[in-house]
Amino acid sequence: MVKPLVAIVGRPNVGKSTIFNRIVGERISIVRDEPGVTRDRIYADAEWLGKEFSLIDTGGITMDEEPLHKEIKLQAEIAIEEADVIIMMTSVQDGITDMDDQVAPILYKSGKPIILAVNKADNPELRTDIYQFYALGLGDPYPISGSHGTGLGDLLDEVIAQFPADEPELYGEDTIKFSLIGRPNVGKSSLVNKILGENRVIVSDIEGTTRDAIDTPFITQDDREFVMIDTAGIRRRGKVYEKTEKYSVMRAMRAIERSDVVLCVIDAEVGIREQDKKVFGYAHEAGKGIIIVVNKWDTVEKDNHTMRDFELKIRDQFRYLSYAPILFVSAKTGQRLVRIPEYVEAVYHNRTQRVQSSVLNDVMMDAVATNPAPASGGKRLKVYYGTQVAVSPPTFVVFVNDPELMHFSYERFLENRFRENFEFVGTPIRIIARARK
Ligand code: GDP
Ligand code: GDP
Repeated sequence: MVKPLVAIVGRPNVGKSTIFNRIVGERISIVRDEPGVTRDRIYADAEWLGKEFSLIDTGGITMDEEPLHKEIKLQAEIAIEEADVIIMMTSVQDGITDMDDQVAPILYKSGKPIILAVNKADNPELRTDIYQFYALGLGDPYPISGSHGTGLGDLLDEVIAQFPADEPELYGEDTIKFSLIGRPNVGKSSLVNKILGENRVIVSDIEGTTRDAIDTPFITQDDREFVMIDTAGIRRRGKVYEKTEKYSVMRAMRAIERSDVVLCVIDAEVGIREQDKKVFGYAHEAGKGIIIVVNKWDTVEKDNHTMRDFELKIRDQFRYLSYAPILFVSAKTGQRLVRIPEYVEAVYHNRTQRVQSSVLNDVMMDAVATNPAPASGGKRLKVYYGTQVAVSPPTFVVFVNDPELMHFSYERFLENRFRENFEFVGTPIRIIARARK
């Protein structure tokens, strides 16, 4: 199921990011303490009354070349393009400004549900001032205060009331969904076009919604079915904001959510950049299958060590992706592109794999016997037995005497033994320590 997307639009300084943080709360997580993998602050998951959704602060997508009024219109356009529900935010302390007046009709004309939030309504007097905002023609204004956290409940009640009905899943259960993510210009659209060009694209007769219209189902020559989840800026092209970093991160996150396997694309010509780490880290954290694709391999002058050196660099920069296979390709020459569906299928298979408990425990007991956990503070971890409780990604519960004694390094040790004994290439695995009852 696709989570609804809620976008916040509004002038600078009305309090968008304050409200964003309030709604998202502490849900923004960090992958352990490895550097470079914090989630992006303009896009995050949130929940209200048991309804999950994603939230985006369009104010965080800045376009340096554009004057402010143009930038805000583009942000409104992004919201219209992406979101199911839009929160237009204003400030009661500023009243209606020219910019509010310009943006409101653009949003209104889109036909999307628009909810008008009037922020900085910090006290009862200010709350009575909100009635002037009816003039924007967007219906009832909702007074909120980012400083005090008031009014958010009523606002969110209205937001979730406007969510579209759940869409049925369009693809068969065994259809493998994958996407390509990476910075602008690494060659994602070139790869997509080349891959689709080499396979049979299925023309769907299902009435597509906006979301599904950008997915492309295709069948390989040996009759395997895949769906390419579009990261946009791939099939649709030409919008000013598509090449901005924040927008591409947001799109990547949307695509990751819907994918079984994610191709993390690096540009061999320019090398690894900080932003690569951020989005790839999100795919890891989301438990997706991951393949690292080094594109533009044709541009690199090679000797016997080139590939190995590049691989070492990747392993060093993406330590948390040590399980991901690496493919060196060229969208230009087509080199190794046929291997992409093969790899995607293998990783998909590994990620949905179930290991029998008896086999798992043989491996685990053997590991524990040869390398017992070190004692710490006079106490020693005892491992009793384990069982796989989930797939996608494979998740194991390990019963122990005291979960507090399961250190990260020992968890890593067990993970490595699992990986040596089972075929988990390309998939993260999760190990959860529980006290034996
Ligand atoms: P953005 O540019 O729209 O994302 O706005 P920010 O969230 O950065 O907030 C701009 C300023 O308004 C900051 O100084 C906030 O502390 C302040 N602010 C945010 N919400 C409120 C509020 O409800 N009341 C008051 N008085 N100030 C607020
Ligand atoms: P995207 O922004 O990630 O979708 O990147 P594009 O597919 O638009 O590619 C950006 C630029 O890189 C374009 O000029 C492409 O022609 C070029 N490009 C893409 N793949 C390759 C490749 O494998 N080799 C070379 N030499 N250039 C490539």
